[in-house]
Amino acid sequence: MAKKQFKTEVSDLLNLIIHSLYSNREIFLRELISNASDAIDKLKYLSLTDEKLKGFSFDPVINISFDTSAKTLTISDNGIGMDEEELNNNLGTIASSGTKKFLSSLSDDAKKNSNLIGQFGVGFYSAFMVASKVEVISRKAGEEKAFRWESEGKSTYTVTEAERSSQGSDIILHLNEDGADYANRWQLETLIKKYSDHIAYPIYLEYDQEHYKDEKDAEGNPVKEVEHKREQINSASALWTRSKSSIKDEEYKEFYKNNYSDSEDPLFYIHTHAEGATEYTTLFYIPAKAPFDMYYADYRPGVKLYVKRVYITDDDKELLPTYLRFVRGIIDSEDLPLNVSREILQENKIMTAIRNGSVKKLLGEFKKIADNNPELYEKFISQYNRPLKEGLYSDYANRESLLELVRYKSSEVEGWTSLASYKERMKEGQKAIYYITGGKENILRNSPLIASYKEKGYEVLIMDDDIDDIVTSMVYEYKELPFKAINKTGAMDDIKKDEAKSEDEKKEESALAQKMKSALGDAVKDVVISSRLSADSAAVIVMDENDPSIQMQKILKQMGGGEDLGEIKPILEVNADNALIRKIDQCTDEEMVKDLSSVVLNQAYIAEGIMPKDPAAFVRQVTRLLG
Ligand code: ADP
Repeated sequence: MAKKQFKTEVSDLLNLIIHSLYSNREIFLRELISNASDAIDKLKYLSLTDEKLKGFSFDPVINISFDTSAKTLTISDNGIGMDEEELNNNLGTIASSGTKKFLSSLSDDAKKNSNLIGQFGVGFYSAFMVASKVEVISRKAGEEKAFRWESEGKSTYTVTEAERSSQGSDIILHLNEDGADYANRWQLETLIKKYSDHIAYPIYLEYDQEHYKDEKDAEGNPVKEVEHKREQINSASALWTRSKSSIKDEEYKEFYKNNYSDSEDPLFYIHTHAEGATEYTTLFYIPAKAPFDMYYADYRPGVKLYVKRVYITDDDKELLPTYLRFVRGIIDSEDLPLNVSREILQENKIMTAIRNGSVKKLLGEFKKIADNNPELYEKFISQYNRPLKEGLYSDYANRESLLELVRYKSSEVEGWTSLASYKERMKEGQKAIYYITGGKENILRNSPLIASYKEKGYEVLIMDDDIDDIVTSMVYEYKELPFKAINKTGAMDDIKKDEAKSEDEKKEESALAQKMKSALGDAVKDVVISSRLSADSAAVIVMDENDPSIQMQKILKQMGGGEDLGEIKPILEVNADNALIRKIDQCTDEEMVKDLSSVVLNQAYIAEGIMPKDPAAFVRQVTRLLG
């Protein structure tokens, strides 16, 4: 019997599971029951759609039995089963690339944090927490042969031929010392109720019950009898099909935790039954913590599609728009055909209606929470502000609603602000929403530009998320108020200093700007005289209204589209009233003017959190000047 080596990632995962999930090892049962239920889902689906299995009829059942003396626990299902190749592929490797990514992305600290791992379905391999050996006897529906997969969970497994009277799988756990407790009726009943009550198929538990018979033996002692019993433990109802009023909060939460492998309660849930042109039920959950793979390209979608309670798929990224990928839950349609394929789904009118209706419902509920439960909304925003911002540029149809949902930091208020409350606080006559982007929060907050806007009573939104630049470049306004970056030239004239300037003064200023521009050469696009900076700041860097911001240039370059941008140079906005600038104005030594101008430019860069292009040259210049 040839021993086969696990793929290395399986060994890693086994180690990880055994060591980090240990305190929570009872979840192995939930995982195996969930696999059994999935296997039945698959067979049910194929019996309705697959040429070969059409009309295949069976009574779905999951059976759990144990043997205290042999120390075994068996979980059986009559679902789709696995053939030899599938046993190798499914149990000998980690097929899902999400799993692999998850593993490699975990830091050592995180690996010790069982909560994080518990959040993520660990699947079949969790059996090795309680078993020293696992046997899987499986026969695929429509096949004659059965096979036995066997492993002690170290580094090898075997697959051999076996017998099974009908389709399905038996997972036989040879319990280890720590697992022995699970071969116990009460223990199993509790766990099934706790984790698997809503599994749609009946879960039976087999056990022996001792009781005394009426008769007595020769010595007058009552006679014991052992009766073999088999009893359904779970309620096996699809929770979402029940009326809202009949479901307790606790039931909703348990359903979520059991079905989405999360150890934490969801932030909130939304249960809707839609009637009318299309009839469907949705039960959506918002996880308390953003799913770990939210920013992976191959994230796992969290919504499952059912048609009339028959499971169709959990792997369709089209069920909800990408920006709502953090939503977990189910969509159950009354109208879709059962054999709906992925291609059909994408073009299907009913699916489009369900999708649009679901998005409207979700955004509407988010708004209600924002209005009525600020504390909860803050938790929501701390996890999901960014995906909502993605929606701002990807979901044009719902842009208005999304603009009411996103939150920003601000120069005037602590925590988050909505655009609506920014608008309410606006100064009379203010015609734009001012914001600043281009770096970390603390750098932005200390920008001399913000200081001068604050001084004049204007609030500035601090947009420190790198997605903000993309959003503001595509979403121009909120309620007819344009977004204006204060570090771009377009906002420059909005908050002028009060005093009017004489023609002479203006001439002098333009000569100064010219002087500095020629001193700086091609390091800048232009030098302009500021009408808004306060006296203690010499200069700031701004971008031409039509050029992408420095941050945006970085993003474009990272995305690989930035090469043809060439080098986009900033504009230096200088304050003619500042002492250092006055000094440049008066200086006649050309070398000195060059040094001073260059120092002013580099200081402005540093204030933005950007290193001078040639730090060593900068230091030399400063040293020269100070000397
Ligand atoms: P997951 O269920 O997250 O895909 P598992 O490690 O639990 O990961 O299982 C790996 C694969 O093995 C499953 O995707 C499924 O194809 C197969 N499998 C596991 N248990 C069963 C079962 N009882 N019947 C049929 N196939 C199964």
